[in-house]
Amino acid sequence: MDKIIKMKENEKTEKLRKIKEEVLKCRKCDLCKERIKNNFFPVIGEGNHNAEIIFCGEAPGLNEAKTGRPFCGQAGIVLDNLLSYINLRREDVYICNVLKCRPPGNRDPKEEEIRACSPYLSSQIDIINPKIICPLGRYSMRFIFEKYNIREDRTISKIHGEVYEVQVKTLKEITSFIKIIPLYHPAVAVYNPNMIEILKKDFGVLRGVI
Ligand code: URA
Repeated sequence: MDKIIKMKENEKTEKLRKIKEEVLKCRKCDLCKERIKNNFFPVIGEGNHNAEIIFCGEAPGLNEAKTGRPFCGQAGIVLDNLLSYINLRREDVYICNVLKCRPPGNRDPKEEEIRACSPYLSSQIDIINPKIICPLGRYSMRFIFEKYNIREDRTISKIHGEVYEVQVKTLKEITSFIKIIPLYHPAVAVYNPNMIEILKKDFGVLRGVI
């Protein structure tokens, strides 16, 4: 039994490693030019390859681009605190972003950048095959809803903390279900400390469905 589980884990790790190699060579949008010029890293994703929960942010900030690790700046501290609030550790989950390269000056992602980069994220999600996806912020929410054909016109300020469920066919052609819980981006609590209570409430919803 142990051996079967090990094989499955290795298979996922191997597929994720291939994506990492592709991203390192990626020249699909102009963000790679900035990255190379500044000696920055792409931020590919980090955590448990067998995770049941994926947290997906928007794009790397400066700290992330310097280290190659997602959410390692101030927003990351907020995320870590929220994870420990619901008794989760980073090692339990997988953390990634819609864009792998940092938009200069932390500007919002452009449509064409999302179109170019998001197939990497889409494959990462399909490989990990989580039970729950938590998009962090509106860009991630929009992409995840699009991926799973969820029609939703309301903004994140109206639907944060709601639970959506979709039926999917996994890479192994097995029918399964994924819960999607859109959450505010943790950076909102960096700029407005009052938001932490709303984030905690929404993470409480996540705790309830785990
Ligand atoms: N904000 C994000 O959306 N992602 C990170 O990795 C860091 C900050």
